[in-house]
Amino acid sequence: MTRNRTQAAHVRDVPDSDPSALTAAYESLASAFAEQGDWRSAYEHLRSALHHARDLPTVAGVPEQHRHEVERLRHESLTDPLTGSHNRRYLDRVLPGLGSAALAMVDLDHFKDVNDRFGHDVGDRVLRHVARILRQALPTGAFCARYGGEEFVLAVPARSGAEAVRVVHRAGARVEAFPWSRVRPGLAVTVSAGVAAADGDPHTRLRLADQILYQAKRGGRNSVAFHSAGDVRILHTLSGHRTAPHS
Ligand code: GH3
Ligand code: MG
Ligand code: MG
Repeated sequence: MTRNRTQAAHVRDVPDSDPSALTAAYESLASAFAEQGDWRSAYEHLRSALHHARDLPTVAGVPEQHRHEVERLRHESLTDPLTGSHNRRYLDRVLPGLGSAALAMVDLDHFKDVNDRFGHDVGDRVLRHVARILRQALPTGAFCARYGGEEFVLAVPARSGAEAVRVVHRAGARVEAFPWSRVRPGLAVTVSAGVAAADGDPHTRLRLADQILYQAKRGGRNSVAFHSAGDVRILHTLSGHRTAPHS
């Protein structure tokens, strides 16, 4: 705690006119809180870091009448327009400061078949629903970002890898349990995920989550893959239902 207090004083000492120094100060403070498991504080400081980041002019340097517009642009530049989730740029921005949060790469199963059978518009609706279901399944301090087309990254601050796996597993179960047939008769949607907890730095963890995702795909999809005691383990959703392509 002493270290965090010292750093908090350090943040106050950084002049407002130096946004990159402020960003760095808030990011290091966020890491310090994250190391101690204080995820709420870490999250708040990451938000501050983001606020002071440099891609867009800082609000402090913008005339009053343009501030709202700059805030809107900043928000839009970090948000995926289709799903309303954070986007890849947001993830790239906050990734270095994520401390030891578990990272999950989540990928829709046989999504190409959803588009082929039901059309691209339905595919888009599915992506919006999945993003919302994932977001709602996350605990405070965790977040969801759309990483690419039908891939989402979940950042899950958790006390243990097992806890993070449970969070991701529950999110996947909720996707499966959603009444998809109300969107279109015959529609069913599941996801597969790879979870990396406590492995190296956040970039390494993300790469590992992506690699291990393919074990979940190979193992029958609709499941969560993770490392445990040196082995890859695969946890299928509660129904144990293996997904087959729409035909
Ligand atoms: P797997 O279970 O192995 O992941 O199979 P998949 O069909 O989900 O994977 P694949 O990579 O073959 O296909 C992904 C599809 O996602 C292809 C692409 O058209 C679709 N897709 C990507 N972005 C969007 C989008 O924004 N909207 C829609 N409707 N489809 C998208
Ligand atoms: Mg994919
Ligand atoms: Mg896919």
